[in-house]
Amino acid sequence: MTTTVPRTQSAPQPLLAGENSPFERFLVKLFAVVPALALAVAVPFAWGWGLGWTDVGLAVFFYTLTCLGVTVGFHRYFTHGAFKATRALRIGLAMIGSMAMQGPVIGWVADHRRHHAFADREGDPHSPWLFGTSATALAKGFWHAHMGWMFRRDLTNAARFAPDLEADPDLQRVNRLFPALTAVTLLAPAVAGGLISWSWWGALTAFFWASLVRVAVLHHVTWSVNSICHMIGDRPFEARDKSANFWPLAILSMGESWHNSHHADPTCARHGVRRGQIDISARLIRVFELLGWATAVRWPKPERLARKLKSASDARTAA
Ligand SMILES: [Zn+2]
Ligand SMILES: [Zn+2]
Repeated sequence: MTTTVPRTQSAPQPLLAGENSPFERFLVKLFAVVPALALAVAVPFAWGWGLGWTDVGLAVFFYTLTCLGVTVGFHRYFTHGAFKATRALRIGLAMIGSMAMQGPVIGWVADHRRHHAFADREGDPHSPWLFGTSATALAKGFWHAHMGWMFRRDLTNAARFAPDLEADPDLQRVNRLFPALTAVTLLAPAVAGGLISWSWWGALTAFFWASLVRVAVLHHVTWSVNSICHMIGDRPFEARDKSANFWPLAILSMGESWHNSHHADPTCARHGVRRGQIDISARLIRVFELLGWATAVRWPKPERLARKLKSASDARTAA
């Protein structure tokens, strides 16, 4: 399968649309850090009566499962063809990714391929740079890239951007199962919590933390790759857009916040390609490869990376 859809040959536009402003950094803190702090405060508040180890364990389990369904499945495999998968793994990844509540697989892939085809230019479904570089424009851009684009989005043409997936009857079936998989991802933690604690209260707290809070946290982490990782961070690689590596999200995003490396080499199975860059999704792909479930894995090639690397002097375009 090929990577992304061919880029359109429109007139070249400037590579950069300006610099990160202090106001923009303030906005990122406001939107990303303050709600996270509120959640952190809620944890000790609820501990012992509305939150316990069972809830934590279930939340971590379902977060890890569904996050990897998106990063390894929807993104690296279905969107970019970073490896070939057995039929069982293909269907499994489509189903588990659907449990992240980020939309059915075919639409997700079509949106994301459009993002790469037009990255940070007109046509990109969620670039923060489409409104200009003034403080107001960036505020609007951040909101749009983070979640606003979904509320007013035009429907990406799947026939153009994901014909390979549309041609697969199994994936059509998984696509139609999306509402059922949404019910599963919300109810499974509650059922597990209820059975483990043998109480309705246990079911309710597991539903709150391992269903609602878990889905919300993963949503924000995924959206942050679209917003923060196109605004702030290091840009060691040549890319035709504003994608950046934002290390604080490396673990929670399971390697997806190495986003500048990803845009520089989109089909690569590993996004954290440099020394010390933790990439949990790449680890899982390696496990699939060892099991024989994944083949033709596109691991990073040193000579290819070297070609994409900027010269050492301008390697750190940190915000
Ligand atoms: Zn991107
Ligand atoms: Zn991508």
